[in-house]
Amino acid sequence: MNTSAQEETVQTITTHYIDGALVKSHGREAMNVIRPTDGKVIGRVALGDEEDTRLAIAAAKRAFASFGRTTKEERSRYLRQLHTAVSARIDDLTAVMIEEYGGVTRFARLLVESGVNAFAAADKALQELPLRESWGKTTVTLEPVGVAGLITAWNANALFICLKLASAIAAGCTVVLKPSEFSSLQTRVMVEALNAAELPKGVFNVVTGLGTVVGAELVRNPDVAKISFTGSVAVGEAIMRDAAATMKRVTLELGGKSPTILLDDAALDKAIPTALTLAFLNSGQACAAGTRLLVPKSRLDEVKRAIRDEMRAFTVGNPADPNIMVGPMVSQKQYERVESYIRKGIEEGAEVLVGGEGHPKGLEAGYFVKPTVFVNVKNDMTIAQEEIFGPVLCVIAYDAEEEAIRIANDSKYGLHSAVLGSDIVRARRVAFQLRAGRVVINNMTDDPQAPWGGFKYSGVGREYGKYGIEAFLEPKAILE
Ligand code: NAD
Repeated sequence: MNTSAQEETVQTITTHYIDGALVKSHGREAMNVIRPTDGKVIGRVALGDEEDTRLAIAAAKRAFASFGRTTKEERSRYLRQLHTAVSARIDDLTAVMIEEYGGVTRFARLLVESGVNAFAAADKALQELPLRESWGKTTVTLEPVGVAGLITAWNANALFICLKLASAIAAGCTVVLKPSEFSSLQTRVMVEALNAAELPKGVFNVVTGLGTVVGAELVRNPDVAKISFTGSVAVGEAIMRDAAATMKRVTLELGGKSPTILLDDAALDKAIPTALTLAFLNSGQACAAGTRLLVPKSRLDEVKRAIRDEMRAFTVGNPADPNIMVGPMVSQKQYERVESYIRKGIEEGAEVLVGGEGHPKGLEAGYFVKPTVFVNVKNDMTIAQEEIFGPVLCVIAYDAEEEAIRIANDSKYGLHSAVLGSDIVRARRVAFQLRAGRVVINNMTDDPQAPWGGFKYSGVGREYGKYGIEAFLEPKAILE
């Protein structure tokens, strides 16, 4: 058989999007795009360098001279144009997220749709946000901070790009976007979609490349006034430190180790599917994943049985199959990271209730891990303290409600959390005591006008709604 006929097309990307056009990369390096379901090379992308980044920053700076003075109505129109243009590509964006990242169909589509919705949500928030207020002889205006560098992670590429861009545009900022180097094919489809919105040249620019090269130049460059970053704590710390040299504003959306408190009056037929959905969200590669399930000792045996039964629904396999709930990890490195934590959990004395080490049977070719539930976990174990970023759930037993709250808050992170229980007044009382940027009660739900972001090591600042737009604005007072 002819081997070339067996080979798949390898998509090659050699350009960045700068000043309204695709521009040949100045960077000499390139990297392969590897499909996580089988480890095959499906693309090759040029990695931008400092020169590419500086060209993009210069374009954004030129565009800011007029874009920074646009009215609310003009920005609202651009947001509507973006919404229409990206909406038209929902199917393509979903398909490429499944292929390049391995996101499962049902979740990939939801993420893309929430990205599209971010433009409409930012438009609504902008309408309700007074950009000018006066009292007595004082006038306060909210002015765009300047050129913004947007740096994103790989686990929800379309959502992060749309969300950050929507807030920046609503505020009147121009941007240079550096998406994760593991999302290059997805970014290319997004660039086509955004380009169709026909925004003025230079308002948004996209440079694909490494964080240590393109990202670092954005953080260092004095013409960038603001960095909005989604990624790991380690890189977030470096950005905060390095951004200080040019006094940049920073928004940092970092990691999590989110607790789900199951109260003793919870109805398990609803609570367990919700708890597992929270844990295995986006194949566990979600900052908000509820990876610590806190269970009253009095109901532990019942809960274990319910988890074992319900885990049959959390099928792992080809993410393009709409019935699959858990797809592969994004890369070999991420696969090894998750496996090392599963090993560590066993070594530290936690008990595997479901899953365990190694590939699931029949899925040896890709970066698939077994969705794993540990019981007998103590909150000071490594698997309960560190972010794994994979489908690994720790079940931790507690005696009284106060102990559950104490364990939930005993974490360096504070991004997301959940409370599951039948008595809503009690569930609310518990929710108010949790140190996290968001708490959901009895469901994994969302509100695009509600702030998103973390306490403690989960980050600095907020995204979504008026909170997200304010992060790109400077208040100015004029006193007569
Ligand atoms: P990462 O920190 O490795 O990379 C994130 C981005 O930063 C990438 O674009 C990368 O190229 C860039 N980068 C790397 N080094 C840089 C540097 N020195 N200067 C500037 N930019 C640099 O994170 P990741 O592996 O892509 O994503 C996983 C992490 O993201 C997890 O910790 C997860 O919890 C977090 N995350 C947080 C949220 C949230 O909303 N809080 C959402 C999704 C993911």
